[in-house]
Amino acid sequence: MSGSHSHSSTPIKREEGERGGQADVPGSLVDAFASRLRGRLIRPGEADYEPARELWNGMIDRRPALVARCAGDEDVVAAVDFARDNEMLVAVRGGGHGVAGQAVCDGGLVIDLSGMRGVEVDPEGRRAVAQGGCTLGDVDRETQRHGLATPLGVVTQTGVAGLTLSGGIGWLRRKHGLSCDNLLSARVVTADGRLLVADGSQNQDLFWAIRGGGGNFGVVTSFEYRLHPLGPEVFLCFVFYPAAATKEVLRACEHYLSQRPDDFAPIGILGKVPEAEPFPPEAHGKSFAALLAPYPGDPADGERLLRPLREIADPICDLSGTMPYTEVQAILDEDYPDGWRYYWKSVNVPELGDELIERLAEHAAAAPSPQTTIDVWYQGGAMARVGEEETAFANRDAPYLLGIEANWEAEADSAENMAWVRDTFADLSSFSTGGLYLNFPGFLEEGEQLLREGYGTNYERLSAVKAKYDPTNLFHLNANIRPKS
Ligand code: FAD
Repeated sequence: MSGSHSHSSTPIKREEGERGGQADVPGSLVDAFASRLRGRLIRPGEADYEPARELWNGMIDRRPALVARCAGDEDVVAAVDFARDNEMLVAVRGGGHGVAGQAVCDGGLVIDLSGMRGVEVDPEGRRAVAQGGCTLGDVDRETQRHGLATPLGVVTQTGVAGLTLSGGIGWLRRKHGLSCDNLLSARVVTADGRLLVADGSQNQDLFWAIRGGGGNFGVVTSFEYRLHPLGPEVFLCFVFYPAAATKEVLRACEHYLSQRPDDFAPIGILGKVPEAEPFPPEAHGKSFAALLAPYPGDPADGERLLRPLREIADPICDLSGTMPYTEVQAILDEDYPDGWRYYWKSVNVPELGDELIERLAEHAAAAPSPQTTIDVWYQGGAMARVGEEETAFANRDAPYLLGIEANWEAEADSAENMAWVRDTFADLSSFSTGGLYLNFPGFLEEGEQLLREGYGTNYERLSAVKAKYDPTNLFHLNANIRPKS
């Protein structure tokens, strides 16, 4: 099919709503669009079409009509114009690691920023500008060269776009806040094809909304972040205890954080010991409770201050040590291979009571896949000091976020793994007083209820900003905020 497009039309899927359904876009229009791009327009049948429609989450198998692999801001403007003018269904791809897998659609246009991965660092001004297709690894690599970092997530292949737009929770959340809290400005292509700068003085409502409101308001072509001194070496605490010690481990961590300033931001991980080095063979397959986080300061201080957390019980294995921050950032990478199947949900809880801890341990032990974990994110600190209405990101005062992460390889195991997530989520939700993290949203099955849960009192304002910048809901393949009528 390659090279023979010009006379045929492209069947496309239209936006939802009254105009929904199938339609054809004449080949001449598609060709004109292709020639307006500095990047590439990828069509079904072309050599790179298959990889272009693949996402991290192997549960997703969609066939877009067109993929616009953008090379810069102008390409994004052209793609938004084309999608809008032809009433196409439109998906936006940053790092392709969205948990719900909405970066690719069936029959529509994918605005693909994966070719836009430039990072520019201003070490004196402690700022970095990252293009919209950057991964965390791209940004850390460039900023760490100067001993600087911005708060991002904990797996390098994740895209900064989806991460930042819905919050961004990582190792620096208690010291420096969320990724979105460190956003200084962004360039956004809105549904009408304008390229806007959103920051503290221009388009302030848009700037407010994109700090938590996800991909609802336009395509972000670049993110400008505030940087902080960090590393390049840090001390990492990564210690695995037998599951019998789960209560002591989670309690000791809670106690530790109550005594310490807001610098250390651990995750408690409940899972099963991998059948691999360096874990002792007698522990393989057994349940564990691990504590994981780097100390974001002097490594010698970290080694000394984190010692109590490594002596809670007799560990199965202690992988703690001083290492480059970029290595810390990659420490979980191999646990999330591309193309595996994933189903992740989350819920905030106000306290870690005994009954909840017992249930966490029981659910983790009952998970059908040995790669599955339940994660306890200790929150608070800087992320909780930002006012609830200062950015769109809500539920900031929740002290604990529970991540329910099913990770498995074979399609045949999907039903069982998804059922485990649903049951676990339903049970753990009974301990919640509200709130969840919209970057761990399952497949967004709960619709608007999920959004109201995630945004709390900020939902109505988000809906009004949506009506201003995207009144026809062109950008709706996301955790969709309906425009206020
Ligand atoms: P994509 O799938 O490309 O995008 C997700 C959605 O964001 C798209 O559907 C679209 O609506 C929107 N979008 C993407 N790019 C743009 C853009 N340029 N402009 C406008 N909208 C856009 N989250 C954390 O907070 N902390 C973590 O530590 C963390 N770890 C993770 C580890 C793994 C392995 C994975 C898969 C996810 C993790 N997440 C974490 C969740 C992650 O933040 C989200 O999955 C996020 O959506 C990924 O962004 P992406 O750009 O890679 O995804």
